[in-house]
Amino acid sequence: MEIELSQDLVSDRKANEAADIVRRCVHCGFCTATCPTYQLLGDERDGPRGRIYLIKQMLEGESVTRETQQHLDRCLTCRNCETTCPSGVEYGRLVDIGREFIEKKVRRPIGQRLARGLLREGLTSPLFGPAVRLGSRLKSFLPDLLASKLPMGERPRRAWPSNSHARKVILLNGCVQPSLLPNIDLATAWVLDALEVQAVVVQTSGCCGAVRHHLADSDGALNQARRNIDAWWPLLQSGDFEAVLVNASGCAVMVKDYGHLLADDPAYCEKAAYVADHALDPVVFLQPMLPRLQEILGQNRTRPKAPKVSYHAPCTQQHGMKCRGEVEAFLTQLDVTVLPVADSHLCCGSAGTYSVLQPALAKTLRDNKVQALSAAGPDRILSANVGCIGHLQSGSHLTVQHWLEWLDEALHGSPA
Ligand code: SF4
Ligand code: SF4
Repeated sequence: MEIELSQDLVSDRKANEAADIVRRCVHCGFCTATCPTYQLLGDERDGPRGRIYLIKQMLEGESVTRETQQHLDRCLTCRNCETTCPSGVEYGRLVDIGREFIEKKVRRPIGQRLARGLLREGLTSPLFGPAVRLGSRLKSFLPDLLASKLPMGERPRRAWPSNSHARKVILLNGCVQPSLLPNIDLATAWVLDALEVQAVVVQTSGCCGAVRHHLADSDGALNQARRNIDAWWPLLQSGDFEAVLVNASGCAVMVKDYGHLLADDPAYCEKAAYVADHALDPVVFLQPMLPRLQEILGQNRTRPKAPKVSYHAPCTQQHGMKCRGEVEAFLTQLDVTVLPVADSHLCCGSAGTYSVLQPALAKTLRDNKVQALSAAGPDRILSANVGCIGHLQSGSHLTVQHWLEWLDEALHGSPA
């Protein structure tokens, strides 16, 4: 696609990066057919090719309106279109830049500014945990949309493993996961402990920055990335820590992008690239230890029969991290029956804050996804991202959990 930047943008680095991405698009439209929002809405401007065209027009200096912004808002940033695209168009990066530019040009209605501000500040605030606990108690008095985001009930908790091991990894100190689904980090730590790896959460680290990044607050997101790099750097440099494990794929894809996002910051570019290189999805880290896991599980004669599951591969894992089919293959090798799921490439509608900001579309996508995941009669649904798990659980009677929670249960039994 041809593009000529408007005069005021010719020397802007991000505009030039966006223009390079636009130029790679050959307008073939393969991506449009697989885009969930195009499938639901049938409008070219609610598909990737149409959105690329809208961003191109904006960068060329044409006027943009609320309508343009709405078409970009409806995009889930699922990056399914990137997987489909034969020309390697980095749509996710393009739409992030497009949203940042349009945010400066189009003033949102007051209600939207308030909702976005509340999400940006609230989800990453230290008060989020206490607010969740209070909200869980008052759930029956809350509006349905808000109540559906809170934990389904009191989940069992236990202490963090106290063993020290020579092998160590850092775990991300996420913003919403420890409050909404605290068992995921605990399960991760106990699985690692069984393999003689110590998981450490650095308390001075925090939100990966994805919430702010996707709400077009790029400065705020970069500050959170710098804070995490500062917190992890001494540990990584000590040589005692092998990796930063990120068990929420929505956060993993953000940490993996630190090197790219901070490439222009001379104080952080090298450290950011190093951290990004060491950020891993747990399945990648655990893969070499599969024989040991099989051995441990084989020795446990009292463990329950491995379940039949449907696995929901989060978009951030399959399209963002390009980690496709790895968890399914890993689970299969642990005797889990992983059932086939139709349209497994499609988003469940959670997409970070999307399910709050675009509730109608998110609900339709969730209901379609729950139907696809339930069709073959699984015992439970597994996934790898806190947002997807909570969103799917709000529409399913089956247990929806992180795959590491199942693995922890297989290794140690259900926590009392
Ligand atoms: S990121 Fe997802 S919703 Fe957005 S244009 Fe691409 S396929 Fe469609
Ligand atoms: S598939 Fe790729 S090249 Fe084709 S229209 Fe979509 S983004 Fe452009």
